[in-house]
Amino acid sequence: MPEGDVVLLTARRLHAALAGRPLVRAELRWPTVAEAGLAGCTVREVVAYGKHLLVRLDDGRTLHTHLRMDGYWRIARTGTPEARGASPGVRAALANDLWTCLGHRLGMLDVVATRDEHRLLSHLGPDLLADDFPDRVDEAVGRLVAADAVGGFHHERPPAVGLPVGDALLSQQGVAGIGTIYASESLAAERVHPWAAVRDLGLPSGGARDAVLRRVLLTARRLEQEALVARGGPADVPRAVYGREGRPCRRCGTAVLRGVVNLPPYERQLYWCPACQPGPGPQPTGARSSGAR
Ligand SMILES: [Zn+2]
Repeated sequence: MPEGDVVLLTARRLHAALAGRPLVRAELRWPTVAEAGLAGCTVREVVAYGKHLLVRLDDGRTLHTHLRMDGYWRIARTGTPEARGASPGVRAALANDLWTCLGHRLGMLDVVATRDEHRLLSHLGPDLLADDFPDRVDEAVGRLVAADAVGGFHHERPPAVGLPVGDALLSQQGVAGIGTIYASESLAAERVHPWAAVRDLGLPSGGARDAVLRRVLLTARRLEQEALVARGGPADVPRAVYGREGRPCRRCGTAVLRGVVNLPPYERQLYWCPACQPGPGPQPTGARSSGAR
């Protein structure tokens, strides 16, 4: 699943292609918005919030999309064969006289008044890659701690059990923009076990717990920012643990492990070094969580 860095990069590319010019073509192949009639509008800007993309138009509306598991955008010169967008996987085609942007396998499309965007995003935590995130990191920490106290963001666990920090990071309601890559990598960098309950971090004092969470979040932000400027893009960055099951930890040589976090049907896979990140081990799954991320 694309994470915040890839979504932000996508927003920048779409902005460069679309901003400031009127749309000569706007096809939304999605039942609820197929008749939205965006052609003729000028794109003001394209921005990202967490894993969400917002295309803001000059008529006061916003096209909101989400890449979900495997969505992506491609940009082609308008008028070329690549710009036709005939593939059944194309859910959105936005074009001006120069560029055509094709959204493949998008998992969500809405058109809303720009002033109502917050209603789509209100469940999300602070955006990890936003300029103001360092000022909002304590808000994100507070959301993670509060969710831990009640058994998760959807109350999916008994409150007495505690919320594994890996689950907490992946829920976009604590902080928006972290997926399995940066959950794995930031926890590895800070030597935190993915299945440690949020309440148990930095025991025995709550202040130490908050400091651990703050470090993990700011490390995730730094890693995503580094990926954004990496020469080969985010996909080309060497990982400490992510995708390296069975291979030696770069720090200590112990074989990296892979395990499942989140309760069904939202299971996700995280990677960790059992020597550098000692802890309780994956928890058994069983209960059901719900809700959009
Ligand atoms: Zn290690």
